[in-house]
Amino acid sequence: MFDGYLNVAKSCKSCGLSYGFADSGDGAAWFVMLFVCVVGVGSILGVEIAYAPPYWVHILLVIPVLILMPLLLLRPVKGFLLCQQWKTKAREGRTGS
Ligand SMILES: [Zn+2]
Repeated sequence: MFDGYLNVAKSCKSCGLSYGFADSGDGAAWFVMLFVCVVGVGSILGVEIAYAPPYWVHILLVIPVLILMPLLLLRPVKGFLLCQQWKTKAREGRTGS
């Protein structure tokens, strides 16, 4: 489905389905950002409240979590949203008549 990290391929390599319909916009980034902010900041606050570690521990824990989690989640979430877009035949909204 992907041609590179996040670029959508022109068509499916298995069945030839054209991905011309695919336009998830910034939906995947939005969902990943929401999840990472809630889980990431929640766990950071949890560690601070439970253990009160020195700041360098926060840096060692937080930077990998806040960088790696979005990188790991962005591709599967985008794939899921594109599959849902195809399944429900969702298209961009139109205004006027
Ligand atoms: Zn296919």
